Amino acid sequence: MKPAPFTYHAPATVAEAAALLGEDAKVLAGGQSLVPAMNFRLARPATIVDINRIRSLDRIDVGAEIVTVGAMTRHRRFEEPIEPGPLGRLLAMAAHKIGHLPIRVRGTMGGSLAHADPAAEWCSIFRVLDGRLVATGPEGSRVIEASGFFDTVFTTAIRPDELIETIELPRLADSYRVGFAEFSRRAGDFALVMAAVVLDMDGETVRTARLVVGGAADVPIRLEACEAALAGQSLTSDTIGEIADLAAESVTPLEDIHASVEYRRDLIRAMTRRAMAGAT
Ligand SMILES: Cc1cc2nc3c(=O)[nH]c(=O)nc-3n(C[C@H](O)[C@H](O)[C@H](O)COP(=O)(O)OP(=O)(O)OC[C@H]3O[C@@H](n4cnc5c(N)ncnc54)[C@H](O)[C@@H]3O)c2cc1C
Repeated sequence: MKPAPFTYHAPATVAEAAALLGEDAKVLAGGQSLVPAMNFRLARPATIVDINRIRSLDRIDVGAEIVTVGAMTRHRRFEEPIEPGPLGRLLAMAAHKIGHLPIRVRGTMGGSLAHADPAAEWCSIFRVLDGRLVATGPEGSRVIEASGFFDTVFTTAIRPDELIETIELPRLADSYRVGFAEFSRRAGDFALVMAAVVLDMDGETVRTARLVVGGAADVPIRLEACEAALAGQSLTSDTIGEIADLAAESVTPLEDIHASVEYRRDLIRAMTRRAMAGAT
């Protein structure tokens, strides 16, 4: 398969890239989603803006409170914890589940968020961490919070003339436990359902909880009723079971050729239970 004709640019700076973007242009990052779409002619951009030569976009800066990730940072960089705390552990848990090695070597965190596949690991992780990102266009940069980023399948708050420059993720104190679980039909496939949990613990008691389910609907979903119900509880198997039941009731899952509504509901129950029980 060959893509439709396009004009190719490889700018060296973010400002040059932003100046080239617009309605008929697409950013090329790792190419692991865009190139197949172009080859199948599902995407026919007139202009490709390849950001692989913009050095400043490939970086991880670990600050005291925030980790700043350049949009071009490849999935594989997160397989080993990027910092010693719960954030590094959570990112490593998720990174190992993304596709196969060649995809993790090429694909980028910024590309994954911009693509906004609801079954993408980084989308759920971004949401459960309450991350934010910096988007840059011809008129400058703006910050977009995870809560306002995902509109629907493959659609985000990013405008056609903007690119994601950095992603900011909060570091988590040692009192936090984190868990991640997903189910896919074969190793390396996109997940049918995934769950990510971030628990701030006071000893064995949950102080605050964040719980997100991905792959179940058009965007990653924060399960606020479950989060409220978890606060003040200890993580016994009974509590985990009750919260997992509540999670399954809280979401109206999508149905597709891979899974019925009922099956996905069961998977939501099983994956939220697994993420909570496995949180470390
Ligand atoms: C066989 C296969 C299996 C896969 N399995 C998984 C999986 O299990 N989990 C998973 O999460 N992903 C999976 N992927 C997708 C992979 O993770 C991609 O890397 C990711 O979705 C897109 O990242 P990319 O860097 O390759 O972006 P690209 O393919 O280059 O771009 C994707 C889209 O994002 C836009 N874009 C890219 N970067 C930016 C930016 N900085 N600013 C604005 N827009 C931008 C592009 O214009 C394009 O529209 C799989 C892919 C394949 C081929």
